[in-house]
Amino acid sequence: MFVVIGTGAGGGLLARELAKEGREVTVLEKGPYIKSKDAFNYYDKYSSDVDLLTTTCIGGATIVAMANMVRALDEELLDFDVDLTDAYEYVEDLVGVHQLDDSHIGKGTQAFLDAGYKLGLKTLKMPKAIREEDCIQCGKCAFGCFADAKWSGKDFVDEAVEAGATLITEAEVTEIIHENDIVTGVKYIKNDAEEIIEADKVILSAGAIGSALILRKSGITEAGREIFFDPFVTVGGYIKDINFNTEVQMAGLVIGENFVLSPHFSSFIRANIPDDNVTDNDILSIMVKTADECKGYVTDDGDVVKINTITDIRYLAEGVATAGFILKEAGVDPNTIGSTVYRGAHPGGTAPIGKIVDSNLETEISNLFVCDASVLPISPGKPPILTILALSKRLADYLK
Ligand SMILES: Cc1cc2nc3c(=O)[nH]c(=O)nc-3n(C[C@H](O)[C@H](O)[C@H](O)COP(=O)(O)OP(=O)(O)OC[C@H]3O[C@@H](n4cnc5c(N)ncnc54)[C@H](O)[C@@H]3O)c2cc1C
Repeated sequence: MFVVIGTGAGGGLLARELAKEGREVTVLEKGPYIKSKDAFNYYDKYSSDVDLLTTTCIGGATIVAMANMVRALDEELLDFDVDLTDAYEYVEDLVGVHQLDDSHIGKGTQAFLDAGYKLGLKTLKMPKAIREEDCIQCGKCAFGCFADAKWSGKDFVDEAVEAGATLITEAEVTEIIHENDIVTGVKYIKNDAEEIIEADKVILSAGAIGSALILRKSGITEAGREIFFDPFVTVGGYIKDINFNTEVQMAGLVIGENFVLSPHFSSFIRANIPDDNVTDNDILSIMVKTADECKGYVTDDGDVVKINTITDIRYLAEGVATAGFILKEAGVDPNTIGSTVYRGAHPGGTAPIGKIVDSNLETEISNLFVCDASVLPISPGKPPILTILALSKRLADYLK
């Protein structure tokens, strides 16, 4: 019996692949089963001062993700004998990765792309997993999806259940049970009662923070002593009637040496401009995202402490300056350009390959595997879902 813990980028595909092969699979998910359109209610809260975006519900953070799908860390993973070439092709085909049709590129995104080309930057349309025929272009991708037009891990869990997997939601895994360093089961809490399920193989995909906590409780105490989160800010300003707030978000991409930029609406930008006549329709803004060093840690009660290094800040500053040039070229009033606070939405690196797991993603406890953002050895500084999906496909093949 396989037990998969978590239904986000890591867990969903593993459950699907194993169940479709006729394996006995039980999926334990801490959050509830919800409709995608309700996902914005399930963002987590952290009590430390870190501004970190994660969710607890079916599909994990993939359900609020922008469906951006790019390959990352190919070279770095080769150093750990992890070649994802075939797995990438499989998952790209499975989730339908493509650049959006021009019918789904709005005025603001086009202005971003045109400015990027004009400034000689490496500029392209973002590869996405969105079905244009269903997308209503509401601009609210990060709320969930009102039209179910985006791929999310929930799609794979539904397929797994259809293929015979058992899904237990609102089941918080607390510990992996093992004897003589071999997995025997999983302890979880459901309806305030402690339950135990027997397992031959366990795949831990509870996300960077959830997996670190479970590993620690299970005796792998080094988990979660370092963490990255791909810091980002959104920089933007005033441009009359651009209506960027209702476009498909993050449909363009500029790739810099130490950052990536993508058009992204934030209502915080309007709040920066002291003019009551400016509305959300008059804002064009750009997300600046960088790779950060793995400085920081997960506390025993699930909070995150993040330490920013000089290099982290330098990369962010380079990205912000470039975003400023693009905004000006796109027609934004330079006197109105401001930034949001510093945030993170891609926590990872808490159980890295080469330290906590081997190149088959197995821990020092036999038959306990980790497959989610935790295992990434360094910060990708770009959307990690596709890489996590490819790692899941590779692990599923290994387990099969
Ligand atoms: C607003 C937003 C937009 C994003 N957009 C993109 C994008 O466009 N492209 C991209 O590549 N990345 C994007 N990301 C990042 C991406 O969603 C995450 O990096 C990715 O989902 C991480 O995968 P994971 O499997 O590690 O964790 P998750 O996807 O978060 O899954 C973890 C799962 O484990 C469950 N869980 C946690 N603890 C327990 C427990 N104790 N017991 C049982 N279950 C548990 C959670 O409920 C969740 O279902 C975005 C993130 C956010 C917040």
